[in-house]
Amino acid sequence: MHPKSIAIIAHDNYKDSVVDWARKNQPILKQFHLYCTGTTGGRIAEAVEGLQVTRLMSGPLGGDQQIGALAAEKKLDGIVFFIDPMTAHPHDVDVKALIRLAIVHQIPMALNRATADAVISHLDPR
Ligand code: PGA
Repeated sequence: MHPKSIAIIAHDNYKDSVVDWARKNQPILKQFHLYCTGTTGGRIAEAVEGLQVTRLMSGPLGGDQQIGALAAEKKLDGIVFFIDPMTAHPHDVDVKALIRLAIVHQIPMALNRATADAVISHLDPR
């Protein structure tokens, strides 16, 4: 059995929000291994103590697809992706591919802060 793992990604306009969310949920998140896209992971690791963060590539350079590969290998228990619905992204197809793999592999996936709260409380092992 792999260690319990969660992927966390946030588009640029939601980086502050994801850091705030990770800080508030630190007692739960510290019990998981976190896989993050490059910039998101850097921001979270810098701002929140005591988390195990693996930083993958930045999203537009393939990080979303690396998270997708982990999903396909069944190495993720949940995915949190703070998507910016108001901005066009060059890697939009990668986002869509990741959502598709979460559906295929029955991985709880949150796409905003409200669902992130729901998913994290569902995954809380305490
Ligand atoms: P980033 O990637 O964390 O490297 O900014 C996120 C994304 O845009 O998918």
